[in-house]
Amino acid sequence: MSLQKELDLRDLASIGEELHGFAAQLYPICRSITGNGLRKTLQILQERIPMQTVEVPTGTPVFDWTVPKEWNIRDAYIRIPGGERIVDFQQNNLHVLNYSVPVHDTMPLDQLRPHLFSLPDHPNWIPYRTSYYKSNWGFCLSHNQLQALEDRDYEVCIDSTLEDGHLTYGEYYLPGRSIDEVLISCHSCHPSLANDNLSGLSVATFLADFLSGRDLRYSYRFVFVPGTIGAITWLARNRESIQHIRHGLVLSGIGDRGGFHYKKSRRGDVEIDRAARHVLKHCSESPEILDFSPYGYDERQYCSPGFNLPVGCLMRSVWGAFPEYHTSADNLDFIQPTQLAQSLRVLATIVDVLESNRRYQNLNPFCEPQLGKRNLYRLTGGGSIGTEINACLWVLNLSDGEHSLLDIAERSGLPFSAIRDASDRMCQAGLLSVSPEKENHKKSITRAAGAEADV
Ligand SMILES: [Zn+2]
Repeated sequence: MSLQKELDLRDLASIGEELHGFAAQLYPICRSITGNGLRKTLQILQERIPMQTVEVPTGTPVFDWTVPKEWNIRDAYIRIPGGERIVDFQQNNLHVLNYSVPVHDTMPLDQLRPHLFSLPDHPNWIPYRTSYYKSNWGFCLSHNQLQALEDRDYEVCIDSTLEDGHLTYGEYYLPGRSIDEVLISCHSCHPSLANDNLSGLSVATFLADFLSGRDLRYSYRFVFVPGTIGAITWLARNRESIQHIRHGLVLSGIGDRGGFHYKKSRRGDVEIDRAARHVLKHCSESPEILDFSPYGYDERQYCSPGFNLPVGCLMRSVWGAFPEYHTSADNLDFIQPTQLAQSLRVLATIVDVLESNRRYQNLNPFCEPQLGKRNLYRLTGGGSIGTEINACLWVLNLSDGEHSLLDIAERSGLPFSAIRDASDRMCQAGLLSVSPEKENHKKSITRAAGAEADV
């Protein structure tokens, strides 16, 4: 049974609630590109999937970058000396400029002001700001809070450390019959932001759990890395295994109410690009397919010219294009159980395509085989044929060893699932057989003798 059908037989609504609950569990943690918040997040993921964590020391060169010092924070506030906190990290971890160096001082508002960040256009929201690679400290606060500050002295405290330590990332490898891999990557470095970060982390974790223990054609590698530096670090440490990546997806922002967007790989027409486009066309309303651009999430690293991996990016609302992006309004109300569950279903359907996409050979290619005598045609002539028979005719016609099932699905306009089911029926009827693998994929190594041919 396909993964999509299996999900549909489950209670998708309760899966959505579970996904949202998982995001809610991760939400309060103050994450960054290094540090204990990131570690704690990965530990919570490990309660669901047996993921490995890797610690890479500060100072390790990774291509043109260097693993930075590790940042940890215990507390931060602005208050009137001896008075109550006006801005409090304990209330919302976005209040601190992420990666702030420690400070404890009393200063007039004029001196403090260059260290304060707000959003005049959304005066109730707290912005999310970072300063990873430039030593700085600061506070993010709502514009209303900023405007209410009186011209007087304030005590400012950021109880943080920035010291030699490690960058942590998580990796879960699910072996399939082939050592050819599907890479699923998401960033794990954002603090209390729900869509940007937690939606991808949650759905990827649930997908990994859903795929665990199955007899899979491909091996699946899930990586949970801090954005940019984490992906660069992972790539620097895995140059050997990268050659096995046949398909890849970066997941981000897949929990909001926006329609699906798929950003194509740099190569633009590889199988993952076509599979994602096909599934979104048949499984979602008005999806948009975007061309590759060298800006966005970690597909920038996977698709850098030295690697040029077949990795695209699945999103709902596009990063930076929705007002809540990188603000306190990207909270647990901004992501929805239904949307999270639908994103999981879309991913399972894409995996279905990758797992089943093959070329076949019609064993009876001279005129149409007589389906009726095999009980594969309608009983009464005259009316129009249904999808099931139409799919069989398409599969028989285009299965010349050159066209894959995805080719046939695209050309016929029928969903991949209908084409795959038709190919199964035709194989059972002895009318179709799997084609030998194509020359350019022969180097593909299979785990076990007798494993099926690759596309
Ligand atoms: Zn972001």
